[in-house]
Amino acid sequence: MVELKIHKKPPTAYVPSGVSAIGRQKRRYAIRLWSIRHSRMLEWFYGKFADVFLLLHPLWNKIGYSRVEAPIKFVEKRVKGLMFDCRMCGQCVLSSTGMSCPMNCPKQLRNGPCGGVRANGNCEVEPDMPCVWVKAWEGSRNMVHGDKIMTVQKPVDQSIRETSAWLRVTAQAAAASEAAKKEV
Ligand code: SF4
Repeated sequence: MVELKIHKKPPTAYVPSGVSAIGRQKRRYAIRLWSIRHSRMLEWFYGKFADVFLLLHPLWNKIGYSRVEAPIKFVEKRVKGLMFDCRMCGQCVLSSTGMSCPMNCPKQLRNGPCGGVRANGNCEVEPDMPCVWVKAWEGSRNMVHGDKIMTVQKPVDQSIRETSAWLRVTAQAAAASEAAKKEV
């Protein structure tokens, strides 16, 4: 029988702050997990919120999207940071991932878990953290449009990291609606 040996790295003096989930986080996991448990309610709320944002499109347009970006981004970063541990990837997929942010996966996988999920459902890289994709599946089962989790996500576009997904989705919806009106 072949015996597998796992070599543990020796501890070093440098522990980057805010990177490992282990100190970050019991409290934050609690909020993140609450959001996933309440994914259905948040799905409904986000739908209404997106409608209001779209209604305000003429206002954003008048002021200028580039001018409103800083204050909106400030709020988005803090609200989503608190609720989802958002990493501001700029291309939000929470509605398709059971309200579990895939950017919290240490491998940043956007289309399901790797093969390393532990038997207890935790991450192989950060053993104290529930696998974001295990949680995504659980969250998606509560949602009306939970089957969107089957949609294949594009790779992350790093060029729009740290930009507002709220404004991007709004501007895209407004452009699509204007284009549809022109076709009629
Ligand atoms: S998918 Fe991107 S924008 Fe959405 S919560 Fe995660 S990091 Fe933030």
